[in-house]
Amino acid sequence: MTQYLKFGLPILLLFLTVFLLNDQCVFDQFLAENKALVGDLDADAPLAEKPPSPPETLFGLPLDSFDIKENIIAPGESFSDILTRYGVGYPIIHRIAEKGKDVFDLRQLRSGKPYWLFCRPGDSLPVARYMVYQPDLVNFFVFDLSDSAWVHAGSKEVCIREKHITGRISSSLYETIVAAGGSPALVMELSQIYAWTIDFFRIDKGDYFKVVYEEKYIDDTVQVGIGRILAADFGHRDKDFYAFWFQADSGRYSDYFDESGANLRKAFLRAPLEYARISSRYTRKRFHPVLKRYKAHLGTDYAAPHGTPIRSTANGKVVAASYTRGNGNYVKVRHNAVYTTQYLHMSRFAKGIRPGKVVKQGEVIGYVGSTGLATGPHVCYRFWKNGVQVDPYAQDLPDAEPLAQAYLEEFKALLEFRKAELDALPLPVEEPGKTPQLAVNTGEEPRAS
Ligand SMILES: [Zn+2]
Repeated sequence: MTQYLKFGLPILLLFLTVFLLNDQCVFDQFLAENKALVGDLDADAPLAEKPPSPPETLFGLPLDSFDIKENIIAPGESFSDILTRYGVGYPIIHRIAEKGKDVFDLRQLRSGKPYWLFCRPGDSLPVARYMVYQPDLVNFFVFDLSDSAWVHAGSKEVCIREKHITGRISSSLYETIVAAGGSPALVMELSQIYAWTIDFFRIDKGDYFKVVYEEKYIDDTVQVGIGRILAADFGHRDKDFYAFWFQADSGRYSDYFDESGANLRKAFLRAPLEYARISSRYTRKRFHPVLKRYKAHLGTDYAAPHGTPIRSTANGKVVAASYTRGNGNYVKVRHNAVYTTQYLHMSRFAKGIRPGKVVKQGEVIGYVGSTGLATGPHVCYRFWKNGVQVDPYAQDLPDAEPLAQAYLEEFKALLEFRKAELDALPLPVEEPGKTPQLAVNTGEEPRAS
């Protein structure tokens, strides 16, 4: 019996937590859908049996069974500082630290983050029965402070809603999207999708965008970031550039395609780092900061913090993972008979990267460092075409695979729906004076310069 209480109860609570959290969104939706129905009830109509309302909970714990103290971790405050104030002894704290160390490392409490203490009601001095710590909006940890002493990692159910945003470029893409209520993450996503299609540094006033995307919520109101961009239209110089997210085969097949089924990507990524700043471009002549003389720089340097993952820019096979005095740790990947790429100055290689290993586009092959002749952490990206080093950004690179024929019908159905959705989104009216080239009606087609 004691055994049962010891293990059965925590497990039951755990199930309850998961069940309640999972059901939250469905339940809210149910309420929303049935609100109108409830309001329309005829006074004479027999009242339906009122369904029992679920007990109010917080992090899966019933609110009516506890006195709850909510607070914020103070600078320098530890787990035991907090708990000893609430009648929890060191043996329990020690057991939690031991038993729960794979779930949560108690040293990771961060000042400024909220916590809740669930105390037994009626005690003259509050004694905590559970503590909940929430390091971010989505994740939380429940500490059971009874003799069984366990830690449970939970996360709030994230609901996804489709949203859309439209705008006309008045300054940069970034400023325009943020001014229209979009997030920097949305700007980043959009520029990744169009990385090979549109040069966002050379867009014009009057260019426009329409984007349908997913936004993630918890507790129905708190925004916790964006999901995927589902469809987009970028109007640039009188041409609409569409992008449609398509997935089939239970997500095993997925990519962005335009309205003709062409892939928005190239066979190569634009850069070997996800968020990178070019610190030195390919040039036949430049002053070398270490050698202190003019020397051709046949690579593109991307500055990034030490340890940033470096990705293979295309599918291929590793032909070298080695060290030289100039290159430091470097990896060379052969993509086909024509193209080979090389990545220099790595701090270390990724696990399993050695000659003969097959890598996929975007796969991490190493980490940014400053080994070899390098002044600071960066990756020098070298692009070989038929054995000669060339500037990758001056190449007309092959496109990634177009839509597979097998999915044509499925894609057409999606395309019809999404394109109509985008085309129906209204654009903000252009303000005369802001874009003078469009304010003058010459009888010709309006056109951004
Ligand atoms: Zn370089």
